[in-house]
Amino acid sequence: MSEKQIKAIRGFNDLLSPMARRWSQAEQILQEILENWRYQEIRLPIMEKTELFCRGIGENTDIVGKEMYTFADKSDESVTLRPEGTAGVVRAYVENKLYNELAPQRVWYRGPMFRYERPQKGRYRQFHQLGVEVFGETEATIDAETIALGYTMLVELGIAAGVTIEINNIGCPQCRPGYRQALVAFLNARRKHLCENCVERIEKNPLRVLDCKNPECQAQVASAPTIDEHRCESCAAHYGALQIYLDAYGVPYQRNPFMVRGLDYYVGTAFEFTTSLLGSQNAIGGGGRYDGLVEDLGGPATAAVGFAFGMERVMLLVEHFDSLQADLSLDFYIGYTENTFTLQGLQALRALRALGKTCELDTRQRSVKNIFKRGDRLGARHVVLIGGDEAAGNFFTVKELATGEQRQVPLAELAKLP
Ligand code: AMP
Repeated sequence: MSEKQIKAIRGFNDLLSPMARRWSQAEQILQEILENWRYQEIRLPIMEKTELFCRGIGENTDIVGKEMYTFADKSDESVTLRPEGTAGVVRAYVENKLYNELAPQRVWYRGPMFRYERPQKGRYRQFHQLGVEVFGETEATIDAETIALGYTMLVELGIAAGVTIEINNIGCPQCRPGYRQALVAFLNARRKHLCENCVERIEKNPLRVLDCKNPECQAQVASAPTIDEHRCESCAAHYGALQIYLDAYGVPYQRNPFMVRGLDYYVGTAFEFTTSLLGSQNAIGGGGRYDGLVEDLGGPATAAVGFAFGMERVMLLVEHFDSLQADLSLDFYIGYTENTFTLQGLQALRALRALGKTCELDTRQRSVKNIFKRGDRLGARHVVLIGGDEAAGNFFTVKELATGEQRQVPLAELAKLP
């Protein structure tokens, strides 16, 4: 190896088995739930015109301001690797005129997202989201449905015990400006106690100060005015209805008037799935209502609500609770002592596979001792041995490794073993 080894890009990870297998198991479980709840899959490009994210996510957000993978392609068009899923889904919804179908339209997606953040545990530059979006319904029934769907996913993955659901209603264009004003006045009076970032946020995005991680900012914010005192009648009623429906779904939740979402497009309902088990990266998913976005991106005025899970963080919880089977079981390992017995081995392999058994046929002859050693290392349930006697007599010697029980059976009986 004289050439210099090439390493993966920082923040871009390989996913190896057995974790990769756990991922696909989790994805399968989630897909089944989504289909059950009548959500339609949508597969979208991972790269879009930069303008989509600037307009869709908002120029003043951290994502657009600092974190996007943006570059000029060979025809000098500015393109961006998607940092999140919603803007692309809305673009596709408008472009494909999905609004002509019966509302509400429920869709889901999953795939890689890209953000130039400082990598650490639970935070990567390429990460994966699974998300849902529902279009065409203003009622809180649908906000409650999406939150209940997220909760059901966590339950089915066996990780709900590690997750708290926080909800809020961050107001609408009617009532948020009043709250914003009160908050800006409060923050301005405390400028010197806030971090540099937050001082900048006071004008640009004051709500973001509420979820700054800096302990000094948090201490200041604890006594800040909350949206609770500023919601208009309609937002208050919507928030009240959401809680009634969540209770009916049996979803546990906490109200958090300081929970805001990092993206500009949210109005009304906002929610987050958080955990105390993953250190500082405590958000495993989040979402909310974005009624203005479809129109902002050139479609008809359309109410919308959605959320996304960060799959790496979901899977860290799966690992924590050890809730999905990581190893692929091997029902039968078939070994033989002479290469001329390969064909008997193949016959057994085909018969067992046809019955849905997992099996491996060895690729070369080995001694009896090595066959059993290998079966053990592979974690096989049964070792099938083909030696001279077996080949001549047209039977197989099968040993169940856990019990040591050994028998001699013809092909027809091989597959009947448990
Ligand atoms: P957001 O679109 O920022 O609300 O993100 C939704 C979810 O995606 C978050 O709750 C995280 O679980 C996950 N997420 C966001 N950024 C990253 C990242 N850089 N690395 C891993 N997961 C992330």
